[in-house]
Amino acid sequence: HARRLDGVDKNIWIEFTQLAADYDVVNLGQGFPDFAPPKFIQDAFGKAVSGGCLMHQYTRAFGHPSLVTILAKFFGQVVGHEINPLDDVLVTVGAYQALFCTFQALVDEGDEVIIIEPFFDCYQPMVKMAGGTPVFVPLRPSGGSNPSSADWVLSAEELASKFTAKTKAIIINTPNNPIGKVYKTEELQVIADLCIQHNVVCISDEVYEWLTYDGAKHVKIASLPGMWERTVTIGSAGKTFSATGWKVGWAMGSSHIMKHLKTVHQNSIYHCPTAAQVAVAAGFQTEYERFGSPESYFKQLPAMLNHKRNKLAACLQSAGLQPTLPEGGYFMIADISSISFDSDDSVSQDEPLDFRFVKWLIKKKGLAAIPVSAFYSAEHSKEFQNYVRFCFTKEDSTLYAAEEILKKWG
Ligand code: PMP
Ligand code: GLN
Repeated sequence: HARRLDGVDKNIWIEFTQLAADYDVVNLGQGFPDFAPPKFIQDAFGKAVSGGCLMHQYTRAFGHPSLVTILAKFFGQVVGHEINPLDDVLVTVGAYQALFCTFQALVDEGDEVIIIEPFFDCYQPMVKMAGGTPVFVPLRPSGGSNPSSADWVLSAEELASKFTAKTKAIIINTPNNPIGKVYKTEELQVIADLCIQHNVVCISDEVYEWLTYDGAKHVKIASLPGMWERTVTIGSAGKTFSATGWKVGWAMGSSHIMKHLKTVHQNSIYHCPTAAQVAVAAGFQTEYERFGSPESYFKQLPAMLNHKRNKLAACLQSAGLQPTLPEGGYFMIADISSISFDSDDSVSQDEPLDFRFVKWLIKKKGLAAIPVSAFYSAEHSKEFQNYVRFCFTKEDSTLYAAEEILKKWG
């Protein structure tokens, strides 16, 4: 095999999705809704599919004209910068492919990419496959009796110390997976200042951008002064419209960067499925017309998820699994350090505590979660074995079933 595959063969989603499927579990593991997407977006898909023969054929490589047009219009308003639909937007097969194109396009052998821990796991293998070296900087919890994702902060000095002459890019994720941290403007400004000072590109993974709670506000780093020119912003229709299987995503930024992502895209995927793009375009058109109103799905979804978040937090709390309340996204981490459990003999004692716990939880309790140390580099995962991640974008009946399991704890 090619050397670029060394060390990137293990994958948490492959492992734990299979394990959850092998047992009859209540699944709060992998992040996807177990309820239907809203009717208007389902209807848009149906309409696209029956919209004539061209809906079933190739389309423009970098994104269907209707989708890039509405994405540019919609996000131009949000980011406060004019976005050119043809030059500044690339439609991809999910946010995954947007990330892959970005790293392949920008990172060379020997380049360093700063990754903030804990991070969505694919950043590390993608940087490595591009020939780059990941450089890690941790968010550290400040502690407190009512833990919140806002307690997890970067040290500005520590972050600054990671920027070297080799730094090509930094990747941030807000709202963050797995903690749910929503970066405040002041925190983004520290990152932006360093990017500008060191001439570094910022890759901003904002797939959970509409999901914020308790007044937390999602801010786009590309909207800060001097950042549009050096930021690639990544989004996902899967998260935006609760339709993860559609695999429509996008990258947006200044054309001088985007043209390189397009080179990767045209030589690998070429384009994302036509009908799904047309459906997502119609969804954004609907949202554009009702943006900011109570009918907007971008308001209704977080309102619905806020209830689910509070419910899950209360359940975990009563089972002795101290949750960290997320300000955004649809995951919640919980501290397992006070729980005693008998990990089964088939699981090596060398595995991190959270991996052993989740395997026990799946096999013995019928509840699936994801170990949080999987969101850390091998160097640092040992320091963060005390948390597991639960997904709450689930039917209330699923959350009740989880509650029943948690109530009977021990
Ligand atoms: N980034 C983050 C932070 C995610 O949680 C996900 C979802 N799995 C992705 C990117 C990938 O998104 P998509 O499903 O659109 O490929
Ligand atoms: N992003 C989702 C999660 O964090 C799923 C990722 C995947 O299945 N590859 O759970």
